[in-house]
Amino acid sequence: KGGIRYHPGVTLDEVTALAAWMTWKCAVVNVPFGGGKGGVTCDPSTMSKREIEALTRRYIAEIIDAIGPEKDVPAPDVNTNEQTMAWIMDTYSMQVRRTTTAVVTGKPLSIGGSRGRTEATGRGVMLICREALKKIGLRPENARVVVQGSGNVGGIGAMLLHREGYKIISLSDMYGAIVDEKGLDVPAVLAHLKKTKKLEGFPGARSISGGSEQLELDCDVLIPAAVENQITSQNADKIRAKLIVEGANGPTTFAASEMLDKRGVVVVPDILANAGGVTVSYFEWVQDRMGYFWNEQLVNDRMEEIMINSFRDVVAYAEK
Ligand code: NAD
Repeated sequence: KGGIRYHPGVTLDEVTALAAWMTWKCAVVNVPFGGGKGGVTCDPSTMSKREIEALTRRYIAEIIDAIGPEKDVPAPDVNTNEQTMAWIMDTYSMQVRRTTTAVVTGKPLSIGGSRGRTEATGRGVMLICREALKKIGLRPENARVVVQGSGNVGGIGAMLLHREGYKIISLSDMYGAIVDEKGLDVPAVLAHLKKTKKLEGFPGARSISGGSEQLELDCDVLIPAAVENQITSQNADKIRAKLIVEGANGPTTFAASEMLDKRGVVVVPDILANAGGVTVSYFEWVQDRMGYFWNEQLVNDRMEEIMINSFRDVVAYAEK
């Protein structure tokens, strides 16, 4: 199980590392898959939709013997989405001469996707944050949260946390961050982002730079949910959060982890904190194979049970 990435910087080493990460992530949430990953070195920003379709179909034709519902089940990753998954399913299905929905996850709902998949990673981050705060004895209404990134993981995670009563004091995107110590109106921020394509200029909030300036804000919870290697030996000692929930893959370097650990900052690692996505991908595969689709409440309830049990297992192991 694992995503397929289209990016100019894709290398075999990167894909191998990401596949290993998936192995551990599946193990943490007891999803009965091993890790896999795929990548194509290309720059989709310079390609037409037709070219991306041709690339996807030819790539799948080349790796067709390596994938399948009981072999390797790809999913979206950087620069791939539900449209890419639909092309993969169609190419595979044409080759095997029957509709095979379970060969990929993250598909559109109309061709066998799962309800709740789009929000799953952000929802998992919210649930883990809630459990971790209980553990450190902080109430949601007293928790000031900083979120780096406002895409699928950061944006949806922030919105769900806001709905639960947490105060989101800062959000960022690739251009910079916005701050309001009184708490941002997250749905309004996301509507502004959708309209203007930037967070900057959101009425009532001040703008600061992204990166360390945002990560070092005075807060209780920090959720890096953008890209890797953001918390490093350069800024780890200046981070003021008591709890870090890793929404992104690999946001904290090894050296920074050790520095945070020494200062007693609790870090919930990526392979647990963002495992809501792979958990619901697993549910999608199960539903495709059953030919029986669950309602959103059932998907969310089952995911919550897995995330909370996994959180408890990890805490028990860490304490031991
Ligand atoms: P996305 O493309 O939807 O959003 C990324 C966000 O990060 C955007 O808001 C972008 O503006 C921002 N960003 C990019 N570079 C930045 C920078 N240097 N500083 C601050 N912000 C920056 O991506 P996503 O799906 O939300 O993924 C984010 C991370 O979560 C990645 O590490 C990804 O591998 C990981 N992840 C995603 C999922 C999932 O289901 N989407 C699951 C597990 C892990």
